[in-house]
Formats: sequence, C-alpha cells, structure tokens
Amino acid sequence: MVLRIGLTGGIGSGKTTACEIFTELGVPVIDADIIAHELVKPGMPALEEIIRIFGEEVISNDGTLDRKIIRDKVFANNLDRKKLENILHPAVYKEISAQVENINSRYCIISIPLLLETGASKTVDRILVIDVPREQQLERASNRDKTDKNDINAIIDSQISRNERLSAADDIVDNNGDINDLRKKIYELHEFYSNI
Ligand code: ADP
Repeated sequence: MVLRIGLTGGIGSGKTTACEIFTELGVPVIDADIIAHELVKPGMPALEEIIRIFGEEVISNDGTLDRKIIRDKVFANNLDRKKLENILHPAVYKEISAQVENINSRYCIISIPLLLETGASKTVDRILVIDVPREQQLERASNRDKTDKNDINAIIDSQISRNERLSAADDIVDNNGDINDLRKKIYELHEFYSNI
C-alpha cells in the first residue's frame, strides 16, 4: 500500500510550491483543489447539484461556475457553506481514493488545503504541515493574488489556527526561509518518506 502523506497549511504558506518540489522529485502529487475544480466543470453532476440548490445565478455566461459569486455567498452564510461542502467534499474524497488506487510508488502527496477543517485526517497516513508566521502568509499571499492584506487576513481567520494545525502535524516544514531552504527541507523529507 502506498503511504499517503496529507499536505496542508494556511493560505500562502507554500503548499503549491512544496508540491512542485515533490513533483520535481518524481513523487505523485494529488491536489484536492484541482480535483474540486474538475468536479464542477459544465456537465458534471456536482455542478448540476450546485445549480439545483443555489440557482442559475451562480453560473457565468459561459456556463461555468462563477467562483466569486459562490465564494461570497458561502463566506457570508454558514448554512450555505455546509450545503456546498456536502456536495463537494464527498465527491473530492472519492476521486482522491480512486487516484490513490492507481499509484505505484512508496508514497504520495495528497495536497488538501482544508484537511483539518474538513475533519479528513483519517483519509491520510501522515500529516505534513507547511508552516509560516501570519506576517509571512499575508506578505506572500497578497503579493501572489494582488489582493489587499485585509482580505487575506479574513481568509486566515476562517481557517484553523496555526497552533491547532501544528499540533495535528506529524511532520512540519518551516517555510520562513527562501526557496532553496524549502527545497532542502523537502529533499530531506523525501529521504525520510521513501524509507518509512
Ligand atoms: P499556498 O499554495 O500555500 O497558498 P504558495 O505555494 O502559492 O502558497 O506560496 C505563496 C506565494 O509565496 C507564492 O507566490 C510563492 O511563489 C511564494 N513562496 C512560497 N514559498 C516561498 C519561499 N520560501 N520564499 C519566497 N517565496 C515563497
């Protein structure tokens, strides 16, 4: 059985960058965000279900899901958020298991930004947290997304706290240094995971 490493971390912590380094090393990386995007493409059952519950107003002119509208809708309303999660999460986790089945490798990385928030820790064998202090999250995420730090702050506040995330971790990568430093730490973890 392939060892499943669940990679998580707050917005702007460096999850995507860490996954790219694992990919460079030839490690299979499954990305829950990419799966979630695929699952709501036009014609997919999950999108039909979203339209049934939230109405046509969440669909753009080209037939795709309007992410901003749906995000604003669920950000402001917990019940709506729950409804959306009830559609998306089971479908995402089903697809992740299907992909894991097809992997032939010692270990794989499953990147799940909301691994802890969605209570899915048991779907992985180890939890790897990419960690930076809030200041660094604000700096990097606002630069990347060209958004206001206030918006990033609100997202950070909606996510699990740094302390809770760190206490759930089996492995922690401190990404407060530069990219080379991150690469070195991922290479070390690769050695470790390859030999468990
Ligand atoms: P996440 O996927 O966790 O939201 P990203 O991997 O997209 O985070 O990283 C956020 C931003 O910070 C990106 O623009 C990325 O290029 C940059 N970044 C990530 N790690 C580092 C690092 N160690 N040094 C400098 N910039 C970094």
